[in-house]
Amino acid sequence: MTEKQKNSIWGDCTPEEWNDWKWQLKNRIMDVDTLNKVIKLDEEDKRAIEHSLEFLRMAITPYYASLINPDNPNDPIRLQAVPSVHELTVAPEDMLDPLHEDVDSPTPGLTHRYPDRVLLLVTDRCSMYCRHCTRRRKAGETDKALPLDYVDKAVEYLKDHTEVRDVLISGGDPLTLPTAHLEKIIQKIDAVPSVEIIRIGSRTPVVLPQRIDDELITMLKKYKNIWLNTHFNHPVEITEESIKALNKLAEAGVPLGNQSVLLKGINDHPEIMKTLVQKLVKNRVRPYYMYQCDLSQGLSHFRTTVAKGLEIMEYLRGHTSGFAVPTYVIDAPHGGGKIPVMPQYLISYGENKVILRNYEGGWFVYEEPKDYHASADPDGWLDENRKSKEGLASMLSGKNKKLVPGEAVRLRRAGEWKRTHSQ
Ligand SMILES: *Cc1c(COP(=O)(O)O)cnc(C)c1O
Ligand code: SF4
Repeated sequence: MTEKQKNSIWGDCTPEEWNDWKWQLKNRIMDVDTLNKVIKLDEEDKRAIEHSLEFLRMAITPYYASLINPDNPNDPIRLQAVPSVHELTVAPEDMLDPLHEDVDSPTPGLTHRYPDRVLLLVTDRCSMYCRHCTRRRKAGETDKALPLDYVDKAVEYLKDHTEVRDVLISGGDPLTLPTAHLEKIIQKIDAVPSVEIIRIGSRTPVVLPQRIDDELITMLKKYKNIWLNTHFNHPVEITEESIKALNKLAEAGVPLGNQSVLLKGINDHPEIMKTLVQKLVKNRVRPYYMYQCDLSQGLSHFRTTVAKGLEIMEYLRGHTSGFAVPTYVIDAPHGGGKIPVMPQYLISYGENKVILRNYEGGWFVYEEPKDYHASADPDGWLDENRKSKEGLASMLSGKNKKLVPGEAVRLRRAGEWKRTHSQ
């Protein structure tokens, strides 16, 4: 227990309680009066918070609250955890379900958007409700797990769709489920022969690092195909406690990734992002994605321009370890999925010549071979069935001569579900 915690409103709890994730969950700050004991709120703040709670509930673990600097109204932890009046603003471009997760959903909780992987939302509960949550239409709605018979329905779908080899378990936060319950879900999915890997998306290493306890580690270790993606947004979130949690996961052999959201006033600065990604790799976490803030309702105060994201990428690529550089993505509205964007490095393209520029601003020519013909697969190992049938790749592989947007596999799938659902 740190000095900070001893001096906090939880000063009376024992270190055992503080380090127990269930105690942390039980003692989350959920109302304005308790919050007011931790940070100073004026009457206007209080009214704004009460009002925004009608849209997305508040829950802040004592641990995460203890990281807030109470004297700084722009503290990056505070901005992520404490509701603000700006959440009530609905901009014209805002949408309830910008990612069409409900549209691309064949069974409750399951979203099938990409060819070989699906997203399964196993609970809508989180240990801390991020004010920038893109799934705010759902997060905290019932504070409950997805019923296991829905998990069974999803598993049936997986059995019928053997092309799915990667299942993302997300929510909400799957690690708010009891370990035994989570294992039941993992077992069911793992039992589908065509599923090769399972990914867990969880913010607990950041907001509830106590959750990464020995019981969880023992469970995770039994499976050799589990990856975990977490969600650090700012270097101050990398604390002694969160480092301990990351170490335990890494030592259990769970590959770790991080997905940050680019947020105005929190991490929209190249130096902050660089410090963050360097601290992550130091702790064996690979920065995976940096997201442009989605068009979910009430998030306009958090959004940056895309130019800011590109500036940050310009600042990272070449300037620090390649594996510390995340892919900057815009999750396209209307279910277009994640689209990577990056500064332009390909300056021009001529006959067998590519002109490139590097991070220093130097320009270089790469000479291509003049008589190149693809010659992989001399043994015919790659059969016709492995040729991509979707997207631009299908044109390159020769499967398709044209692409008509309405015929995208994803849209056809969604149309089929609608027909079967309306019958
Ligand atoms: C992000 C996401 C995935 C996984 O995408 P990757 O690029 O493989 O990480 C899968 N399904 C849905 C619906 C997603 O939003
Ligand atoms: S942990 Fe994830 S799902 Fe939960 S509130 Fe934060 S961003 Fe939303």
